Amino acid sequence: TSSTNDEEATARAAAANADNGGPTIFDKIISKEIPSTIVYEDERVLAFRDINPQAPVHVLVIPKFRDGLTQLSKAETRHSEILGHLFYAAKIVAEKEGILDGFRVVINNGPAACQSVYHLHLHVLGGRQMKWPPG
Ligand code: 5GP
Repeated sequence: TSSTNDEEATARAAAANADNGGPTIFDKIISKEIPSTIVYEDERVLAFRDINPQAPVHVLVIPKFRDGLTQLSKAETRHSEILGHLFYAAKIVAEKEGILDGFRVVINNGPAACQSVYHLHLHVLGGRQMKWPPG
């Protein structure tokens, strides 16, 4: 069926784009070489609007220093503080965007979850009724 073909194409594309530890597009977003719409920024994190939004509010929250955190599965004890701060920043974003009453925070980890950029990021989604389960 065409939905099976779609699923196979998605799996192939995801598998072709696995973690190689190299630079990503987010480096250029952090350096502002590539423009983005910034929602929140401090010394440690940057939050900016997703270029391909999946909800009326779709913001990515990323650490400014990747420090090996290409994906959540690479987390070590030393990352505990930045992981906590990323989640706190997600709450600040939800507050600024006026969606504190209902929002979703997502991390896609690895090819099986269709991660496409290997610089850890939290998706903050809201502004519409979110469905469960996600695809
Ligand atoms: P992932 O699929 O890895 O969980 O999420 C990566 C996200 O980064 C995607 O939702 C994609 O739309 C977003 N993205 C990729 N390139 C850019 C870009 O150049 N600018 C912005 N603002 N978002 C991007």
